[in-house]
Amino acid sequence: MNALQTNVSLRNFNTLRLCSNAAWFVAARSVDEVQECVHEARNRGLPLFTLGGGSNVILGPKLDALIVHMNILGTEIVEEAETYAIVRIGAGEVWHEAVLWAHREGYYGLENLALIPGSAGAAPVQNIGAYGAEVKHFIVQVNVVNSVSGECAQLSNEECEFGYRDSLFKRESGKHWVITSVDFRLSKVPVCNLEYPELKRILSDKPVTPSSILDAVIAIRTKKLPDPSDQPNVGSFFKNPIVSREHAKRLHDEHKRKSTRLNSSHDV
Ligand SMILES: Cc1cc2nc3c(=O)[nH]c(=O)nc-3n(C[C@H](O)[C@H](O)[C@H](O)COP(=O)(O)OP(=O)(O)OC[C@H]3O[C@@H](n4cnc5c(N)ncnc54)[C@H](O)[C@@H]3O)c2cc1C
Repeated sequence: MNALQTNVSLRNFNTLRLCSNAAWFVAARSVDEVQECVHEARNRGLPLFTLGGGSNVILGPKLDALIVHMNILGTEIVEEAETYAIVRIGAGEVWHEAVLWAHREGYYGLENLALIPGSAGAAPVQNIGAYGAEVKHFIVQVNVVNSVSGECAQLSNEECEFGYRDSLFKRESGKHWVITSVDFRLSKVPVCNLEYPELKRILSDKPVTPSSILDAVIAIRTKKLPDPSDQPNVGSFFKNPIVSREHAKRLHDEHKRKSTRLNSSHDV
C-alpha cells in the first residue's frame, strides 16, 4: 500500500483552501490499496472518508479519520459497438481531463459537463449536472468497494438512485461505498445537447457539433465561474428548488406583475 501518513495538512486538497488536518492519510492508487485502507481503518477503529478533488467539501480543522485520497487513474474501453462504447474511467481521474479524453477519442455526450471541478469518482455522488445535462444519463455502472467489509461490488444505474444533484452515495444507506471507477455509455455518433438556452443562443450562428458545444461550455464557464486555484470556492451553495408546474406558473405570473409595476413606476 502507498505510505500511510499521519497528521497531514489537507489545505492543498480542498478548493476552499481550509486548514484541516487529517489524523491518517493515504493516496490510494488501486482497488487493492482501497481495500487495504478499509482493513487499516477497521484495525485502528477509525472512520474512513474518501476525498476526491475537494471541490464540494467543507473540512473541519481536525479530522480523526483515515482519509483515502482517491488516486485510481486510467481509462479503458469495456465494450465497443458500431454506435456506442462503454468506457471505464478511474475514480481518481480529473473529471475535465476525462471529458476531454472521451471527446478526443470520438466518444461523445459529456461535452456539456466540461470543466466541472473534481474527480471522475465523485461525479455520481451528486449526479453532477450543468448546461442541460446530467451525468446519470451516461452512467451504466459504478464500481465500488464496501468501506465496512472491503468487498468489491458493481451498482447499476438504477441502484445508484440518481436524483437532482443527488444519489444513493449521499444517503446513510450508501455512504459506505467507495467509488473506484465509473462505466459510461458514450455515443460514437456525434450527439449535441442544446437544451440550455444560453448555449443555444451562443451557437445560433455557428455549426453545432460536439466540438463547438465543448468550446462554448468551456468559454461560458471560464467567463462566469471563479477558478478555485485563483479564488478558493466550492461553486454554488444552493440547489435549484423543484416545485410543481402550477406553482412555477404562479411564481412566474406574480413576478411578471411585480416587474410590470416596477417598470411602469420607473418609466414615470
Ligand atoms: C467553481 C465550481 C463550480 C462547480 N460547478 C458545478 C456544476 O456546474 N455542477 C455540479 O454538479 N457541481 C459543480 N461543482 C461542485 C463539484 O465540482 C462537484 O460536486 C464534484 O463532483 C466534486 O468532485 P470532487 O472530486 O472535488 O469531490 P470532493 O469534494 O472530494 O467530495 C465530495 C463528496 O463526494 C465524496 N466522494 C468523493 N470521491 C468519492 C469516491 N471516489 N467514492 C465515494 N465518495 C466520494 C466525498 O466523500 C464527499 O462527500 C462546482 C464546484 C466548484 C468549485
